[in-house]
Amino acid sequence: MQTEIILAKYGELALKGLNRNTFEDILMKNIKRRLKPLGKFTYTRAQSTIYIEPETPDIDLDVVMDNMKKIFGIAALCKACVCEKDLADISKVGIPYLEEILLGVKTFKVEAKRADKQFPLKSPEICRELGGQILEAYPHLQVDVKHPDVTVMVEIREKHAFVHAGNEKGAGGLPVGSSGKALLLLSGGIDSPVAGYRMSRRGVHISAIHYVSPPYTSDRAQEKVEQLCQKLTAYCGSIAFFCVPFTEIQEEIKKNCPEPYFTIIMRRLMVEIAQKIAAKDDCSALITGESIGQVASQTMESMQAINAVTCTPVIRPVVTMDKLEIIDLAQKIDTFDISIQPFEDCCTIFAPDRPKTNPKIKNVEQYERRMDVVVLVERAVAGIMVTEIT
Ligand code: ATP
Ligand code: MG
Repeated sequence: MQTEIILAKYGELALKGLNRNTFEDILMKNIKRRLKPLGKFTYTRAQSTIYIEPETPDIDLDVVMDNMKKIFGIAALCKACVCEKDLADISKVGIPYLEEILLGVKTFKVEAKRADKQFPLKSPEICRELGGQILEAYPHLQVDVKHPDVTVMVEIREKHAFVHAGNEKGAGGLPVGSSGKALLLLSGGIDSPVAGYRMSRRGVHISAIHYVSPPYTSDRAQEKVEQLCQKLTAYCGSIAFFCVPFTEIQEEIKKNCPEPYFTIIMRRLMVEIAQKIAAKDDCSALITGESIGQVASQTMESMQAINAVTCTPVIRPVVTMDKLEIIDLAQKIDTFDISIQPFEDCCTIFAPDRPKTNPKIKNVEQYERRMDVVVLVERAVAGIMVTEIT
């Protein structure tokens, strides 16, 4: 019986400047965690590739592939069949293995990679031999070396040879956890989940913080954000979710500050709370879904006023993207349909008709002095609920 396995390749480029072993260890750990619910596998690694072999025949490798395409740090991946390292076995096992694919196309070429230079045939000879045998087995096919419908790959590796029909693109980026941790300000909107996804792709493990204002916001609004977190875990791994009671702060702002300043002052208080959680949760940065000019409150002046409350870097991964680009990504990572559910967010409810687009820090601080910010922040922090979303 033929053995089918998955090869996950991380390539040399991604390893630049990183400790190779740490990178591989983290990636391996992430893959194992993701595949655990799908069955038992044997993992081996060699030559910038992780080999994943199912231990039982009931495992659906297509499902495994779909899961693996969401794991950051994998540049390319494919299903392959395992052959002995001789040409007779490669054609005996490999040619029937590719039957379904080869019957569905008109042209092909063979490419060989010889990681084991001891193998008696050189790459062009392997291609010629195997190409001839494929033509015999599937007479409807023609060879096209420039634009083949399918490229049959033969990889001669350390212990075995592998035959497959070319690599598929992986999620790229760096393995989550290889670049530290940051805290995502996650609203129920379209932008912040995408911001979290983009940050994770750089290897950053994320926690999420969300502000609720019951009874102005409903439980459904919070559930929606938890669902967004859940979606993100497919890419980002487990996420610590901090839920902050924000009603008192919103009401105080409303009572004490001029309406055009509501949004900016609210955002500054969010960031003050977030930086305290970041410090406790080992997060070295905050992440938001702000994008320049997207709404009146998202200007460089307001970002300046927001940054002024913290020394923790505030990273805005979607800052230069326009809405359509963000929506495209939100659809790709499957958060869009959740984000557009119409549950009120704490920002929408207290949103001023005309937010101040160029808030002066001096004025903002003056209005904030009308409230006991320290006590308000302390109380909000004390009321935070944490859940681990996996
Ligand atoms: P999003 O689509 O992410 O909600 P937005 O374009 O609606 O973004 P705003 O509502 O102005 O923008 O919010 C800007 C950013 O502030 C959000 O991207 C998010 O990072 C943060 N934020 C806003 N509301 C909340 C909330 N209730 N909880 C946590 N973070 C929030
Ligand atoms: Mg929003």
